[in-house]
Amino acid sequence: MSEHTRINVKFETESCSRCGGSGSYSWCSRYGSTCFKCGGQKTQLTRKGKKAAERYAAVKAALLSIPTSRVREGMRLFVDEPGIEGLSRGVRGYFRVRSVGRTTSGCMVARTAAERESCGAFFYPWKPGDNWLVDLGPKAGSHVVGRNDLWQRQPSVATLDLLAEHMKGVDGATVTLESSPAEVSA
Ligand SMILES: [Zn+2]
Repeated sequence: MSEHTRINVKFETESCSRCGGSGSYSWCSRYGSTCFKCGGQKTQLTRKGKKAAERYAAVKAALLSIPTSRVREGMRLFVDEPGIEGLSRGVRGYFRVRSVGRTTSGCMVARTAAERESCGAFFYPWKPGDNWLVDLGPKAGSHVVGRNDLWQRQPSVATLDLLAEHMKGVDGATVTLESSPAEVSA
Protein backbone atom coordinates (compact mmCIF):
# COMPACT_ATOMS: atom_id res chain seq x y z
CA MET A 1 0.00 0.00 0.00
CA SER A 2 1.49 3.34 -1.03
CA GLU A 3 -1.05 5.55 0.72
CA HIS A 4 -1.15 6.15 4.42
CA THR A 5 -4.33 7.51 5.99
CA ARG A 6 -4.12 10.03 8.76
CA ILE A 7 -6.94 11.19 10.98
CA ASN A 8 -7.02 14.90 11.60
CA VAL A 9 -9.14 16.04 14.54
CA LYS A 10 -9.51 19.65 15.53
CA PHE A 11 -11.21 20.74 18.70
CA GLU A 12 -13.17 23.94 19.15
CA THR A 13 -11.11 26.76 20.64
CA GLU A 14 -11.70 30.34 21.77
CA SER A 15 -9.44 33.23 22.74
CA CYS A 16 -7.55 32.60 25.97
CA SER A 17 -9.53 34.13 28.83
CA ARG A 18 -6.42 35.17 30.75
CA CYS A 19 -4.48 37.09 28.11
CA GLY A 20 -7.44 37.92 25.88
CA GLY A 21 -5.78 36.22 22.91
CA SER A 22 -2.51 38.13 22.96
CA GLY A 23 -0.41 35.23 24.27
CA SER A 24 1.38 37.43 26.79
CA TYR A 25 0.67 38.67 30.27
CA SER A 26 2.47 40.77 32.84
CA TRP A 27 6.09 39.72 33.35
CA CYS A 28 7.07 37.36 36.15
CA SER A 29 10.36 35.61 36.84
CA ARG A 30 8.98 32.11 36.26
CA TYR A 31 7.09 32.55 33.00
CA GLY A 32 8.54 35.78 31.61
CA SER A 33 5.74 37.55 29.80
CA THR A 34 4.31 34.37 28.22
CA CYS A 35 0.75 33.73 29.39
CA PHE A 36 0.95 30.53 31.43
CA LYS A 37 -2.67 29.60 30.88
CA CYS A 38 -2.32 29.16 27.10
CA GLY A 39 1.49 28.88 27.02
CA GLY A 40 1.58 31.68 24.44
CA GLN A 41 -0.79 29.78 22.13
CA LYS A 42 -3.40 32.56 22.40
CA THR A 43 -6.29 30.11 22.44
CA GLN A 44 -7.88 27.65 24.84
CA LEU A 45 -10.38 24.85 24.30
CA THR A 46 -14.02 25.79 24.69
CA ARG A 47 -16.11 23.71 27.11
CA LYS A 48 -17.39 21.66 24.15
CA GLY A 49 -13.89 21.38 22.68
CA LYS A 50 -12.54 20.09 25.98
CA LYS A 51 -15.28 17.46 26.28
CA ALA A 52 -14.65 16.35 22.70
CA ALA A 53 -10.88 16.15 23.32
CA GLU A 54 -11.45 13.99 26.40
CA ARG A 55 -13.71 11.69 24.43
CA TYR A 56 -11.14 11.44 21.64
CA ALA A 57 -8.39 10.54 24.11
CA ALA A 58 -10.60 7.89 25.73
CA VAL A 59 -11.61 6.28 22.42
CA LYS A 60 -8.02 6.35 21.18
CA ALA A 61 -6.79 4.73 24.39
CA ALA A 62 -9.50 2.07 24.19
CA LEU A 63 -8.58 1.23 20.59
CA LEU A 64 -4.80 1.40 20.80
CA SER A 65 -3.61 0.92 24.38
CA ILE A 66 -2.15 -2.44 25.24
CA PRO A 67 -0.56 -3.64 28.50
CA THR A 68 2.93 -5.13 28.41
CA SER A 69 1.54 -8.60 29.12
CA ARG A 70 -0.27 -8.52 25.74
CA VAL A 71 2.62 -7.07 23.73
CA ARG A 72 3.93 -9.53 21.12
CA GLU A 73 6.96 -9.69 18.87
CA GLY A 74 6.46 -7.76 15.63
CA MET A 75 3.95 -5.21 17.01
CA ARG A 76 4.77 -1.56 16.43
CA LEU A 77 4.65 0.54 19.59
CA PHE A 78 4.92 4.27 20.17
CA VAL A 79 7.89 5.52 22.17
CA ASP A 80 8.30 9.13 23.28
CA GLU A 81 11.23 9.71 25.57
CA PRO A 82 12.98 13.00 26.16
CA GLY A 83 16.76 12.83 25.99
CA ILE A 84 19.07 13.39 28.93
CA GLU A 85 21.43 16.25 28.25
CA GLY A 86 24.97 15.03 27.63
CA LEU A 87 23.93 11.38 28.00
CA SER A 88 21.34 10.34 25.47
CA ARG A 89 19.26 11.69 22.63
CA GLY A 90 15.49 11.62 22.80
CA VAL A 91 13.49 8.95 20.97
CA ARG A 92 10.12 9.49 19.34
CA GLY A 93 8.23 7.32 16.89
CA TYR A 94 6.89 3.82 16.27
CA PHE A 95 9.24 0.92 16.74
CA ARG A 96 8.85 -2.79 16.05
CA VAL A 97 9.04 -5.15 19.01
CA ARG A 98 11.98 -7.53 18.63
CA SER A 99 11.26 -9.54 21.72
CA VAL A 100 9.32 -9.40 24.93
CA GLY A 101 9.71 -11.47 28.06
CA ARG A 102 10.10 -11.55 31.81
CA THR A 103 13.33 -10.36 33.33
CA THR A 104 14.98 -10.34 36.71
CA SER A 105 18.20 -8.68 35.69
CA GLY A 106 19.35 -5.33 34.40
CA CYS A 107 20.15 -2.07 36.07
CA MET A 108 16.57 -1.04 36.39
CA VAL A 109 15.81 -4.05 38.56
CA ALA A 110 18.91 -3.83 40.73
CA ARG A 111 18.15 -5.40 44.11
CA THR A 112 21.42 -5.36 46.03
CA ALA A 113 23.29 -2.35 47.32
CA ALA A 114 26.19 -3.18 45.00
CA GLU A 115 23.92 -3.32 41.95
CA ARG A 116 22.28 -0.06 42.93
CA GLU A 117 25.70 1.48 43.37
CA SER A 118 26.82 0.49 39.88
CA CYS A 119 23.58 1.63 38.28
CA GLY A 120 23.69 5.08 39.80
CA ALA A 121 20.96 7.38 38.55
CA PHE A 122 19.33 4.65 36.48
CA PHE A 123 18.06 2.61 39.36
CA TYR A 124 14.32 2.33 39.73
CA PRO A 125 12.89 0.24 42.56
CA TRP A 126 10.76 -2.20 40.57
CA LYS A 127 8.82 -4.81 42.43
CA PRO A 128 10.54 -8.19 42.20
CA GLY A 129 8.85 -10.61 39.82
CA ASP A 130 6.86 -7.91 38.05
CA ASN A 131 9.45 -6.93 35.47
CA TRP A 132 9.20 -7.37 31.72
CA LEU A 133 11.81 -6.56 29.13
CA VAL A 134 10.57 -5.13 25.84
CA ASP A 135 13.27 -4.88 23.17
CA LEU A 136 12.45 -2.30 20.50
CA GLY A 137 15.68 -2.50 18.53
CA PRO A 138 18.86 -0.43 18.64
CA LYS A 139 17.22 2.98 18.13
CA ALA A 140 14.58 2.72 20.83
CA GLY A 141 16.45 0.32 23.08
CA SER A 142 15.23 -2.14 25.69
CA HIS A 143 12.67 -1.15 28.29
CA VAL A 144 12.12 -2.70 31.67
CA VAL A 145 8.44 -2.24 32.48
CA GLY A 146 5.62 -3.68 34.55
CA ARG A 147 3.11 -6.18 33.14
CA ASN A 148 0.29 -3.63 33.30
CA ASP A 149 2.19 -0.68 31.89
CA LEU A 150 0.35 0.67 28.87
CA TRP A 151 1.82 1.04 25.41
CA GLN A 152 0.24 2.59 22.38
CA ARG A 153 0.13 0.53 19.20
CA GLN A 154 0.53 1.99 15.74
CA PRO A 155 -3.02 2.39 14.41
CA SER A 156 -4.02 0.49 11.30
CA VAL A 157 -6.01 2.28 8.59
CA ALA A 158 -9.09 0.42 9.83
CA THR A 159 -8.51 1.70 13.37
CA LEU A 160 -8.11 5.28 12.14
CA ASP A 161 -11.40 4.95 10.25
CA LEU A 162 -13.05 3.64 13.40
CA LEU A 163 -11.63 6.52 15.45
CA ALA A 164 -12.87 9.04 12.88
CA GLU A 165 -16.27 7.33 12.91
CA HIS A 166 -16.48 7.70 16.72
CA MET A 167 -15.72 11.42 16.51
CA LYS A 168 -17.98 12.33 13.58
CA GLY A 169 -20.84 14.56 14.67
CA VAL A 170 -19.37 15.06 18.16
CA ASP A 171 -20.02 18.62 19.28
CA GLY A 172 -16.78 20.61 19.50
CA ALA A 173 -14.74 18.36 17.17
CA THR A 174 -14.01 18.56 13.45
CA VAL A 175 -12.78 15.34 11.87
CA THR A 176 -11.11 14.89 8.51
CA LEU A 177 -9.30 11.88 7.07
CA GLU A 178 -6.25 12.69 4.98
CA SER A 179 -4.27 10.53 2.66
CA SER A 180 -0.56 11.18 2.65
CA PRO A 181 2.38 9.38 1.04
CA ALA A 182 3.51 6.31 2.94
CA GLU A 183 5.06 7.38 6.19
CA VAL A 184 8.63 6.44 6.77
CA SER A 185 9.14 5.64 10.42
CA ALA A 186 12.11 4.08 12.08
ZN1 LIG B 1 -3.27 33.21 27.32
